[in-house]
Amino acid sequence: MDNSSPILTPPSAPRDFGFFLDGAFVPAGERDVFERSSPGHGVPVSRLPRCSEADLNAAVASSRKAFDDRRWAGLPGAERAAVLLKAAELIRERAEEIAYWETLENGKPISQARAEVGGCIGMFEFAAGLARALHGDSFNNSGDGAMGIVTREPIGVVGLITPWNFPFLILCERVPYILASGCTIVAKPSEVTAVTTLMLAEVLSDAGLPDGVFNVITGSGSVIGQKLAEHMDVDMLSFTGSTAVGRSVVEASGKSNFKKLGLELGGKNPQIVFADADLDDAADGVAFGIAFNTGQCCVSGSRLLVERSVADVFAEKVAEKLRKVRVGDPLDEATQAGAITTDAQNRTILSYIAKGQEEGATLISGGGTPEISGGQYIEPTVFTNVTRDMAVASEEIFGPVLCVMPFDDMDEAIAIANDTEYGLAASVWSKNIDKALTVARRVQAGRFWVNTTLAGGPELPIGGFKASGWGREAGMHGVEEYTQLKSIHIEFGKRNHWVA
Ligand code: NDP
Repeated sequence: MDNSSPILTPPSAPRDFGFFLDGAFVPAGERDVFERSSPGHGVPVSRLPRCSEADLNAAVASSRKAFDDRRWAGLPGAERAAVLLKAAELIRERAEEIAYWETLENGKPISQARAEVGGCIGMFEFAAGLARALHGDSFNNSGDGAMGIVTREPIGVVGLITPWNFPFLILCERVPYILASGCTIVAKPSEVTAVTTLMLAEVLSDAGLPDGVFNVITGSGSVIGQKLAEHMDVDMLSFTGSTAVGRSVVEASGKSNFKKLGLELGGKNPQIVFADADLDDAADGVAFGIAFNTGQCCVSGSRLLVERSVADVFAEKVAEKLRKVRVGDPLDEATQAGAITTDAQNRTILSYIAKGQEEGATLISGGGTPEISGGQYIEPTVFTNVTRDMAVASEEIFGPVLCVMPFDDMDEAIAIANDTEYGLAASVWSKNIDKALTVARRVQAGRFWVNTTLAGGPELPIGGFKASGWGREAGMHGVEEYTQLKSIHIEFGKRNHWVA
């Protein structure tokens, strides 16, 4: 594509892609084809095969063989690291193309897509080091006659089911770490945003990843995703998506081979703002936390808990910020909030906005559906007079809808924050270190931010408490998650006989 063009436009015709099997793309051929339209423009952009069960079996067999013959797991960590570093370099070279397709299929602003691709490069670079740093443990304290070694071994074939909200970022928060561990992968991206996963397959192959180590099947979650979760020859499944499908994946594991699961599910994440915070900074952070990626973000700060003495003033500050967010064509450099990714999600968000009003919450800002470039858009929306029992306050909306609830003291703030089945992420805004760190300790969340939100990097593990999931991705924990421990007990010298 032409990187010099100042104004990006969708392609004039949809582009055909194949799925990726054993180191090569396989065109759709006789298979059904799914055509994806850009949610920001309403025009078809990509066409992908709907893989059959036979295709899935072929992909799993390819990953199985690549794992069992040790073409990847058997390499020194340094050689795995070299492939991951080369992949980082190739992603950097293709960053503009990847960001463009991410924006076309997902509807996120192109500037944001570019930044996310930049973050993904960092994931590969960091994970490369971890491929070399991964190690076990030893016990040299068992007396002169014995010692113990604990080794880490890659689990095997990993199924990877990723969602449509951050197709490339979520993929890259997992793939380099899984590869660093020595496992092989069968990836199943969301059908509506699969192109950048296929681009990663090409990047990895070009970087020298042996054939069969990374396969990509395309098709719908309910058909091909479900079959991947049930597959007897998949040793672990990493699933990111809805709590409902998370439950079905747990069931599928129990009914098949008890494959290990990594789950990153929903969130209803609190942002706790004390009166002593820098309220201008906090308002900006809270606005970012709910409008970023149009709130289609498992870690969106969708519940604003604010100290009562400043609640009204602060809610208005946030609303003021949100009114200025530039909602627009995702391919426009100036856009801050793009399109809603799927028709179903668009309907869901609008139904919650209607429900909030029916339940008696007060809509103080947003709620509109601007007409922009033929796509589907929703203005960032703020509700006040929200009570904990309302659906908008307790259910994950996965859209740019903020619910404001006041609190009187720290204990009440913590109680409201924890009054949810979820425990994915939370933020506190306060200049009082005692308050901020006490809240950080007591709020149940896998990720916590102090005087910021939606921040992080490849070093920090991600995942949830409670119904938000199992296990951790990224960081060293994210590599170890894809390994299993083996205890090796060694004895020296002459055996002390059991039978005289
Ligand atoms: P899903 O959970 O249906 O989709 C997530 C992924 O799972 C996609 O790759 C999907 O494939 C796949 N999938 C769907 N059904 C199955 C199945 N039975 N077995 C295995 N994989 C399956 O989420 P939705 O797209 O329906 O979104 C609904 C809600 O889920 C959102 O409103 C939001 O609340 C939550 N969500 C949370 C995410 C997170 O990051 N935690 C991400 C996305 C959604 P395909 O898309 O091809 O059908």
